[in-house]
Amino acid sequence: MKILSVNAGSSSLKFTLIELPSREVLASGLFEKIGITGSMYTIKFNGEKITKECYLADHSFAVSKLIEELVSNGIVESLEEIEGVGHRILHGGSEFTESLVLDDNILTRISKYNELGPLHNPANIMGVKAFMKVLPNVKNVGVFDTTFHQSMKETEYLYPVPYEWYTKYGIRKYGFHGTSHRFINRSISEYLKRDDLKIISCHIGNGGSLCAIDSGKVVDTTMGFTPLAGIMMGTRSGDIDPSIIPFIMKKTGHSAEEIVNELNKKSGLLGVSGISSDSRDVENAAFEGNERAILAQEMYAQKIANYIAMYNNLLNGADVITLTAGVGENSKNMRKMIIDRIQSLGVKIDDEKNDFRGEFRLISTDDSKIPVYVVPTNEELMIALDTMELIS
Ligand code: ADP
Repeated sequence: MKILSVNAGSSSLKFTLIELPSREVLASGLFEKIGITGSMYTIKFNGEKITKECYLADHSFAVSKLIEELVSNGIVESLEEIEGVGHRILHGGSEFTESLVLDDNILTRISKYNELGPLHNPANIMGVKAFMKVLPNVKNVGVFDTTFHQSMKETEYLYPVPYEWYTKYGIRKYGFHGTSHRFINRSISEYLKRDDLKIISCHIGNGGSLCAIDSGKVVDTTMGFTPLAGIMMGTRSGDIDPSIIPFIMKKTGHSAEEIVNELNKKSGLLGVSGISSDSRDVENAAFEGNERAILAQEMYAQKIANYIAMYNNLLNGADVITLTAGVGENSKNMRKMIIDRIQSLGVKIDDEKNDFRGEFRLISTDDSKIPVYVVPTNEELMIALDTMELIS
């Protein structure tokens, strides 16, 4: 069965065509600058890569181009081979607790949450509508970043603020990266052949979040009402004292929106190091002795370590810690910095085992109290697997 896994942005559309159940990636690619000048697309398949510049007026046109390329390059023989399309959707509020087959009525319900994810949700919905138009006979499935976290209890998802903020305005923790944490939960549970694991899942990429999972259910996660909360990230601050916002507003004359934008885009590794949001650049500068790069790395590792310790307490003792995403999968240096900061939990890194990148591996010592694994994430595959299950 061939399934397309899609992530539509306001002017982009990323796709992966996956064969299931073999999990083989048949093609992947990106349509960029949709609706603006300079639009182009790249498709990779069979070790080949095609790049074309072509005006892509809207998402529907990009989808028809995609289908045309898949057929003309012999990646699929006909449209009928594509049995389902799975879409990444950022926000399903408290209402959507599972992935589901989409129709117009459900899209209208999802659009209620556009104000909670203004940059992503309208674009995600636009992507679904484009596929509905171009492939009217193919089922579309919505896979939300928020649904996995819907098992959190009030004690975790509520903020200690006036209760009416929650009842009137929906102010609560929603959590994000749910598709990745769910994939990690599934991978490590399958590998260890247990469905009762207490897992601390650390997704550390450009964005980052931790998730405490017990027997497949999320107990808590670090991102909150928006993805700005939690650990320090590439460009996001993570948790800060909110009183900083009105204080900086007075000092700079900037609006609240401008300051929140700086907290999202100019903070984190970039803000502290003053060098880059990319952990490789910061790591290189730190190796060369740049003091702010060293400071940024230490803060980054410490905040993750602190949340691991907190979640170990919340879970009453974790069975396993997993690291994933760009930094977690690739940076042996950052992995070591984090694990060295949770020695109070009896967790120890094995430097030899840790010397690799991008694979599923155990990196802790045999006598580490909690085993630590690097588990590569695959959100596209998770979306495709959900789609297969729901349309079968
Ligand atoms: P996104 O949140 O955009 O999906 P990724 O999961 O791709 O982010 O992670 C991007 C981060 O991963 C960047 O900070 C990048 O520097 C880091 N990264 C990728 N490869 C390496 C590497 N070999 N060593 C260190 N960091 C890496």
